[in-house]
Amino acid sequence: MTPCYIDIHCHFERCPTEEALARAEQAGVGIICTQGTDPATNIASLKLGKKHASVKTCMGLYPITALKMKDEDIDLMLIGIAQQAEHVVALGEVGMDFKEDETHHARQKEIFTKVVKLALQLNKPVIVHSRKAELATIELLEQLGAKKVIMHCFCGKWNLAERIIANGWYLTVPTSVTRSEQFQRYAKELPLAQLFCETDAPYLHPDKTVTTLSNEPANVLSSYVWIATLRGMKLEDVRDQVFRNFETVFGKV
Ligand SMILES: [Zn+2]
Repeated sequence: MTPCYIDIHCHFERCPTEEALARAEQAGVGIICTQGTDPATNIASLKLGKKHASVKTCMGLYPITALKMKDEDIDLMLIGIAQQAEHVVALGEVGMDFKEDETHHARQKEIFTKVVKLALQLNKPVIVHSRKAELATIELLEQLGAKKVIMHCFCGKWNLAERIIANGWYLTVPTSVTRSEQFQRYAKELPLAQLFCETDAPYLHPDKTVTTLSNEPANVLSSYVWIATLRGMKLEDVRDQVFRNFETVFGKV
């Protein structure tokens, strides 16, 4: 496959799929990794991946959603993911979220451990959410020996971003880079061989005056433009390197 732009993390089933797909194609976005967060969106992700060549199925379990599920339902869902493994490029969106109630931390660790173990068993990358749980998430992934790790929208301290890079993992530059000094710093300073770009569509629209959930994969180009501009690189060279990163983590496409 010739190098193209990649949206490594979005929730494509929440976008107006057909129109958004046409605009993505027009913009040169040839790979869209859509995330699952629960049984229903995992099925949606699978269907979209089967229907559109450029859409890649990720299946996951959002940490807050997982808290509402019984162990047997989580286990059943993970079995379902394993059964569909040949259609699944990564386990995402998965992770931990300590934003709310502290009493759930141990439970989240227990569930995330199960999820990461499955990813290791299936030899799939994990695309990881870590809001307010950055250190704990990194520590757990380290303990479990995870290697193919993409930390999505990572907002932890700079030394933790460096630890992610030292571990050989990946960080993303989201389209909200327009209003985040931290993401601008990733775009400028971190090794390009360990970066991806994402929209988290329909969330995180690059224009902060847009309050509707109308971000979409075509907008991922704005993250690439930030990287190219801040480094004084050609846009195509950034695209090609990020594409190589994709092949390193996911295999040839
Ligand atoms: Zn997301």
